[in-house]
Formats: sequence, structure tokens, C-alpha cells
Amino acid sequence: MTTATLTIDTGAIARNWQSLDARTEVETGAVLKANAYGLGAPVIARVLARAGCRSFFVATADEGAALRAALGQGPVIYVLSGHMNGDTGAIGEARLTPVLNSVDQMLRHVEALPGAPFGLQLNTGMNRLGMQASEWSALRDIAVAQRPALIMSHLACSDEPDHEMNAHQLRQFHEMTDGIDAPRSLAATGGTLMGEDYHFDLCRPGVGLYGGLPFADAEPVVTLDAPVIQVRDVAAGEPVGYSNSWIAPRASRIATVSGGYADGLIRALGSGKTQVYAGDTALPVVGRVSMDLITVDVTDLDHDPDHLQLLGPHQGVDDLARAADTIGYEILTSLGHRYARRYTE
Ligand SMILES: *Cc1c(COP(=O)(O)O)cnc(C)c1O
Repeated sequence: MTTATLTIDTGAIARNWQSLDARTEVETGAVLKANAYGLGAPVIARVLARAGCRSFFVATADEGAALRAALGQGPVIYVLSGHMNGDTGAIGEARLTPVLNSVDQMLRHVEALPGAPFGLQLNTGMNRLGMQASEWSALRDIAVAQRPALIMSHLACSDEPDHEMNAHQLRQFHEMTDGIDAPRSLAATGGTLMGEDYHFDLCRPGVGLYGGLPFADAEPVVTLDAPVIQVRDVAAGEPVGYSNSWIAPRASRIATVSGGYADGLIRALGSGKTQVYAGDTALPVVGRVSMDLITVDVTDLDHDPDHLQLLGPHQGVDDLARAADTIGYEILTSLGHRYARRYTE
């Protein structure tokens, strides 16, 4: 079975980074966790380094070690989960900068790797990662004396600029960090777009680089073309796919396409929710999405297509996300490992 082709426009990623960078007066980093949101961290890291990015963020030490191998020495690689039990080898060897989330992590880090760089994450209200205000006031002077590379926090609601949580977290972050002599960071993609109050010394966008909301002006990055395996005629009244969930309302021509929920075309994209494209013509997905296949009503085409496009100029990641009642981040990170990946400039 021929697999679908995921085309990743690395030039668009570099331009998205530059365009976010141009909106601020401060350093712009890049978040490449989860294999650069599913698109391939090693290639994208090198593209961004060439564009001028010097600070990279990943979720785990393993991801950090892989990124170091791709980038070589030089760029700073922050690990957002901090210094976990068992991470010391990877952090030391790959010269990673863990973003420490608790007193326990702080102790582990300074004992295991004295003098090695670190960042600090503070909890300003999201209650996911970072030190509590009480913990921080006890530790603050000791931690600052060790010269943290970065002090950061994360916004819970930056996809909604008017949400009162943003101003609340901004106030908390100021209260916890004003007067400290260390670089600070609060903004991901959403915060970068909310203006200079949120920029501090470094912004760290992720999804915007890959063409996703809330960066509405982003250039699209991914194109997904899937081969048609076979095309058949179905009489009016006949079913298509699992559970007979779609019944042909008229004599129809149905294309079976290579790509299913194991490839990130999540099952919520089934009958009536999604379209795919043959050139400029939109065609409805009919019946259930199965593991490796989807079925598409191509009756209105004057030819049988070889390929159909699922992501591209007519339909972006956030359009698919809306159809499946999820967010672009989940569509991106779900795009499967079975696709042939093609990187273009
Ligand atoms: C994922 C993440 C980011 C990037 O967020 P986007 O919304 O993708 O820009 C930044 N900072 C932290 C702590 C994150 O977990």
C-alpha cells in the first residue's frame, strides 16, 4: 500500500518564526516538544537555528538529547519537565538546561550537576508546573545566587487575549520576579501576540511556527496528500463503511483513500464532518473513519482521482481541528508516523 505524503514547508516555518520575532523587541526562542509538534524536530531545529534561533524548548530530557545531536553545541536547549530522577546522565552529557519546577528538582540538580545551567518555572495560576509562591519565597535568594539562565511561567488562557486570567498571571509573575537579575519569559505563541507587557526577555512560541492558531497570520506549513486505492460504484440505498453509518442517497462513486485514524485522521472526522480536495473541488468524507482508510464521495468529479488532499491551501490544520471538535495542536501531533515526510524550502 502506498502511503500518504506529508509535505512540510520548512521555509514557511522559518518565516513564521521571523514574523513572530519581528513583533517583539526581545529574543525569540522556539518550542520543539513532541518532535516539533509531530513535524520532525531534527530538521526543523536546524532550519530555525539557521534563521537565528538560539533557545530551544522540549518537554523531556530524551527529546533534549536528540535535539542536541541535531544542533551541535551552541544553542541553549531547555527541558520543560525539569530534572527528573534518571535524567542526570542525559542532562549532563547533552548539556541541557532543565527548567526546575520544585525544590526537590532544584536539590537534585545542584547535587548531581553542581554549576550546570538551569532555568526555573514558577506557578502563576495554571497549576500545572512550577514552584508555588510560598516555595519560591523560601528558595528565591538561594536560587538566584546560582544564576538561573531563565525564570519563566506559562499562561493558561493566552488563546483568549481578553480573558482576565492573562492579566492575573502577569501580575503574579511581576510580584514573584520583579527586581531579580535574571532573564524572564512568560509568552508562548498567544502571549507573543498579546503585546510587549507579556514579552519580558524571551518569547517561546510553538504552534504559531507550525502554522496554527492563535497565530492567525501564520503561513500554512503542512500539506497532506493521500493516494486513492480503489474507486467503486455504489447503488442508492447501499451502505459504506463500518456500522453502515452512511447510506448512499443516490447512485454514488466512492473512493477509498489510504489514511485513517492510525495516521491522525481522528475518528471524529467521519461522515458529514469533513471534506477532502481534488484540486479545487471539495468532496465529502462519507462513512466512518477506519484505522487505515477513509471513504470519499467522488460522484461529482468527472474523473477518478489518483490522490486526494486532506491538508493544504483549501483546508488547514485548524479547519480539520474544528471539524473534529479539537484544536490544531492535537491534529498536528497526531499526524502519523506512517506518512512519507517530504521537507521543502
Ligand atoms: C507548549 C508550551 C509552549 C508553546 O506553546 P504554543 O501555544 O504552542 O506556542 C511554551 N511554553 C510552555 C511551557 C509550553 O508547555
